Amino acid sequence: MEHKAKKKYGQNFLKDKNLLKKIITKAEIENKNVIEVGPGQGALTQFALPVSNKMVAYEIDKSLTPYLKPFVDQGLKVIFGDFLNTDLEKDIKENFNNEDVHFIGNLPYYITSPIIFKILETEKIKTATIMIQKEVGDRLASLPNQKTYNALSVIIQHYTNVKKVMDVKRAMFFPQPKVDSIIIRIEKKDQNLGSDEDFKEFVKASFLQKRKTLMNNLSTHYKVDKTALQEFFVGNQLDLNIRAEQISVTKFEELAKNWVKFS
Ligand code: SAM
Repeated sequence: MEHKAKKKYGQNFLKDKNLLKKIITKAEIENKNVIEVGPGQGALTQFALPVSNKMVAYEIDKSLTPYLKPFVDQGLKVIFGDFLNTDLEKDIKENFNNEDVHFIGNLPYYITSPIIFKILETEKIKTATIMIQKEVGDRLASLPNQKTYNALSVIIQHYTNVKKVMDVKRAMFFPQPKVDSIIIRIEKKDQNLGSDEDFKEFVKASFLQKRKTLMNNLSTHYKVDKTALQEFFVGNQLDLNIRAEQISVTKFEELAKNWVKFS
């Protein structure tokens, strides 16, 4: 059985058993309900399935069926198709009785961000232990005034605690990708933050153009006159020349709430 890795699906397979076992240990999925995206040839699945309570995997590439068949025989449910198009809430109701679920995956890098957003938006997913590009991982865990701090950093840290688990060099994959990777663990914060579209919009607007001031970006996105905006800045003790990259997640949370009242 020989599978030719498909670039268009971001197929870079892991082989190192010690690394794979370590990812599963760090994922803390013993007796938990588990969703995996992109099981591929079952590299992570082989260690996750035996410790999980119940496990469902989403795989876009049907030609991997023969590799996954042994796991299906051991109780794995495989849903073939694009994970981004699935109705996840419905699937969790059907397969897990609407109980909490934990997410694992060595993600296809071409859709890292949309997968992360889908995880954030799905309330029943409580943690995610994922392998992603190192550059994206650095962004997610980034702090104010660091080069990598952007809207995604703020949004993800608003909803979750992000922990770096370990760096993984590109040579660990077959075929070898062009970038190094990192494993991170995302834990949802306890409070129910809802979908909070206003918060996301405010953060994205604030980072609209990184070089520009917060004042400029808010004025452009919300079409509010700068003179009127000054009142908001003074009321929130903000320097008129501050940039989004200087503002902490907590301060963004406060600002976004006040913005709704102001606008
Ligand atoms: N888990 C395996 C491993 O660690 O060796 C494979 C990881 S590989 C980086 C990514 C996997 O995601 C591939 O099996 C690929 O076919 C699958 N994939 C790509 N796009 C997908 C999508 N939209 N929905 C579901 N699976 C996808």
